[in-house]
Amino acid sequence: MSIRTMARIHRAATDHTDWCVRDHTCGLDTHRGRPITIAPDIGGRAVVTRVRAGDRDYAEITLRVPLHRSERVAGEQVTTILHHLRSLFAAVVALRPGTLAGRPARRGIGSGRVA
Ligand SMILES: [Zn+2]
Repeated sequence: MSIRTMARIHRAATDHTDWCVRDHTCGLDTHRGRPITIAPDIGGRAVVTRVRAGDRDYAEITLRVPLHRSERVAGEQVTTILHHLRSLFAAVVALRPGTLAGRPARRGIGSGRVA
């Protein structure tokens, strides 16, 4: 027996923003700014894109960090990345303390156990 899902998704179109690129990367209710890339001399890169999805704006971050070949060192590097990402979230939220007020904390990978 096979089951087919014919659900229809209805999304209301929203207007472009002052900062979105107004091209194919914008969707009906999602608008994307021009990606900003940093590529430090030590290797790797980070791409930050401002995104409006529905009624919320986000910074979408794609991060590529070179890891050491040693599994032990690579694991420590990943732990360090998680630690600093948690600090990054805290620093950004601290700029506008009411941003996440009233929302329950979401638990993620390694939550609470990152040094
Ligand atoms: Zn747009």
